[in-house]
Amino acid sequence: MPIKFGLLTNPANNILEEIKLIKKLGFDYVEIGIEPPCGAPEIILRNRQEIIALIRKFNSCPVAHTPWWIDLGSNYPQVRKAWIEEAKRSIDVSKALNIDKINFHFYSLGLTRLYLKSYQLEILNNIITSLKEVVNYATSKEITVIYENADVKREILGIKEYKFVVDSVPKLKVHLDVGHAFVENGLKGIRDYLFTFRNKLEHIHIHDNQGEEDEHLPLGEGKINFEQVAKWLNQINYDKTITFEVFTSKKDARNSMLKFKEYLKKI
Ligand SMILES: [Zn+2]
Repeated sequence: MPIKFGLLTNPANNILEEIKLIKKLGFDYVEIGIEPPCGAPEIILRNRQEIIALIRKFNSCPVAHTPWWIDLGSNYPQVRKAWIEEAKRSIDVSKALNIDKINFHFYSLGLTRLYLKSYQLEILNNIITSLKEVVNYATSKEITVIYENADVKREILGIKEYKFVVDSVPKLKVHLDVGHAFVENGLKGIRDYLFTFRNKLEHIHIHDNQGEEDEHLPLGEGKINFEQVAKWLNQINYDKTITFEVFTSKKDARNSMLKFKEYLKKI
């Protein structure tokens, strides 16, 4: 199967208009942001029929995307419980749209606080326990959960900790954000994620940056060698979905897609 290329809806805009625009720009599928204000679960459910009708016009299935700040690792038990319920609600929304792939992010507010390093294992274990519940819930609805790597340079949210979580949660699949891996550890970071998780890799986000911040730039405006990334994807025979998470404009995202398709064609 050839790789499919998609674009994420901007949750600040009307969701129906976003999907129409993404189709018009020639993408194979839409990644639906289940996120307030305009992509909040109740809004998506209210527009369910129209969204399904628009999705049918694409040649490939959509992917569901949830906000990065869902905190499945919180060491406030009531807060964690509430986030698990919200995660399940996003899974219900995906099911209502016949989407079979939903992402969550490797994140916990506690893990971004270096002074809490002594709590790292506790928070990672909270994430694992929460994810097991979320993945089981999704599996019962025939939905695959994909887990996106973080965009920080800190060792507390790096590939080692990410692998610990992924290895501990059966059926959890890998969602590689190439820009995030570059912020973490440059081109080597991207290579490490690709080749460590090639058998679990289900989805990819692509965008450029200078290696310091998660800038979501068009391809070529940052420092990532995307020709090399394309070579590696060919090497591992990647044949799933790639979403262009370029935030400058949708036109830039489309041009980035066209550029990356050319790189993939070169052997
Ligand atoms: Zn991403």
